[in-house]
Amino acid sequence: MDKLSKVKGIGPKTEPLLNKIGIFTIDDLVTHYPFRYDVLKRTDLKTVTDLEQKVVVDGKVESIPLVIRFKGGTNKLNFRLSTVNGIVGVSIFGRAFLKQSLPIGEKVIVIGKYDPNKNIVNASDIKFGNLTNQERIESVYHTTSGLTQKVISSAINNALVSYGNEIVDSIPKHLIEKYNFLNKKTALNIVHNPPNYDKLKEASIRLKYEELFEFMFKINYLRAENNKDNIGIKRHTEKKIDTFIKKLPFELTEDQSKALEEIINDLNSERRMNRLLQGDVGSGKTIVAILAMYYNFLCGYQSALMAPTEILATQHYNNIKELLGKEKINIELLTGSITKKEKQSIYNELKEGKVNIIIGTHALIQEDVEYNNLGLVVTDEQHRFGVNQRSNLKNKGIKPDVLYMSATPIPRTYALTIYGDMDVSIIKQMPKGRIPVKTKVFTTKEMNDVYNLMKEELKESHQVYVIAPLIEENDDLDLTNIYTLRDKINLIFGNKYKIDIVHGKMKAKEKELIMEEFKQNIVNILISTTVIEVGVDVPNATMMVIFDANRFGLSTLHQLRGRVGRNSLESKCLLISDSDTKRLEIMENTTDGFVISEEDFKLRGSGDLFGTKQSGDMTFKMANLKNDYKILVQAKIDSDDYLKNECYDKEELKKRLIATIKID
Ligand code: ADP
Ligand code: MG
Repeated sequence: MDKLSKVKGIGPKTEPLLNKIGIFTIDDLVTHYPFRYDVLKRTDLKTVTDLEQKVVVDGKVESIPLVIRFKGGTNKLNFRLSTVNGIVGVSIFGRAFLKQSLPIGEKVIVIGKYDPNKNIVNASDIKFGNLTNQERIESVYHTTSGLTQKVISSAINNALVSYGNEIVDSIPKHLIEKYNFLNKKTALNIVHNPPNYDKLKEASIRLKYEELFEFMFKINYLRAENNKDNIGIKRHTEKKIDTFIKKLPFELTEDQSKALEEIINDLNSERRMNRLLQGDVGSGKTIVAILAMYYNFLCGYQSALMAPTEILATQHYNNIKELLGKEKINIELLTGSITKKEKQSIYNELKEGKVNIIIGTHALIQEDVEYNNLGLVVTDEQHRFGVNQRSNLKNKGIKPDVLYMSATPIPRTYALTIYGDMDVSIIKQMPKGRIPVKTKVFTTKEMNDVYNLMKEELKESHQVYVIAPLIEENDDLDLTNIYTLRDKINLIFGNKYKIDIVHGKMKAKEKELIMEEFKQNIVNILISTTVIEVGVDVPNATMMVIFDANRFGLSTLHQLRGRVGRNSLESKCLLISDSDTKRLEIMENTTDGFVISEEDFKLRGSGDLFGTKQSGDMTFKMANLKNDYKILVQAKIDSDDYLKNECYDKEELKKRLIATIKID
């Protein structure tokens, strides 16, 4: 299809603005769906008694608009409007710029609230044109400054006229017939210009189905590919790991032992392992994975452990070194901060089989790493990797057993869809002696209380995490940033305690150093963005303070909170926010990840749950996994049939769908 700039109405000024809101292609443009619809239906002003009722009136401008300017830059525009109910006053704030566009006689639609005593509409919006007798539904789009609703809407409509027939439809013909679906161009036309609610619903269902069909097709395809060759490594060892387990500094919980047993059974069987190890934050998944890797080593195979961040990879490395250091086993860490030379030498050793356990970020599978006899791959915080990367690994021509670890509790129904082909081990129990983290919401007016609680904690030689959403100041967003926060905290605590910062934009080496200092209690207060959200384990840290807590999803807050309460000391989590406190109170009331994820799901749809921001695979423009679950299930069944049915093997669409699956 043509470039975006070929669309009528998109000039050199408009194109960059569209880019700014994520529209780069004609396809992006026509699927830039309205985020809201306004219903425009004329209100009979005579019937209005409720001052809070929203009214819609249309008519002609009757008097030249008058602009009043106030101190501080606000302004007010007043004019009279001739309507079917006679002449009424119209008053609207902040629209002085409209004055020139409202000559006498101009036809406008005014939306607002009507005050019958003063015969004035206090308007919230003014649109041009007039109402027909029918109800009109108007699309409202997400936009950016300088880009009007009108420009977006006409660009979309022009694109639909010129390119509507070229837009690819991802639903196979037989299914379009089966469900009597509208054709795609018509459906797009309707969602952008809905004639009525029934049509709108019909068109949305069709577009949602398409999105979900495509999504499920890809998942099913990857799954089928993964299962094609299900024969993996069959292990056998006389050596037992029981003696090793007895030497651990703690006793495994029952759930941990059971999970380990399930994993070892998989490793011993010829069938390739594809297992998800699920357990709430702090439930102790890592040790289970380490034991599995140790067993794999005893059987003579290499293991790879992948973590989503370098901080976490480094932590795992140190952990494993500590636990397995006395055994004759070669463990290496591969991160972005090592030199090319070191890297090359690790690569060589991997190839020669001299490295037994390799730990790193997902570069471990993306780059051209060759293994000697890779037997087991463990992926930590699995949900962060997205679906495609999971398959990358399996398509490297090697067939190791695979273990995924995830701390994101997924409601069962969704898990069945997304992880339907995996075996699952669940760790429900927390290790002995854990005390639930006490959580409390504070407003910014109560900061003194927060600082006092921090003081108490530090006095006990415990450490504190402080989290804020931004790294640096940002003009667009009025949020706490970690640099300003550091200055503030330095003023209060700087003379007694050491304070430092980590964030995602820092060099890996710097981050490592600071994390190590925090681990050793050289740094007492660690200020950070959510880079420490996943996995980080510093048991002596017993307080988590989160600024602008309302900015985070509950699942993220739960993960963040999971950084404390990791031993038998009592820990506290302080959430600071002036708004959204009802939602945050859920955090005060429970520490159960499943409950929180259900609540999050109810409130935000799939949002946080699958780490959509990271994976990109789970974002839908129209569908919503929660509300459209029935469509999802149907799409799953249909796409599975389509994939399996050889009649359709030669269809262009099928090839195209498969071609869009990125496996590199
Ligand atoms: P997560 O499941 O969130 O990845 P970790 O594996 O990091 O949790 O474990 C959290 C902490 O609990 C670690 O410090 C770990 O050493 C400790 N731990 C794990 N298992 C046990 C156990 N059975 N008894 C006591 N402490 C344990
Ligand atoms: Mg972990």
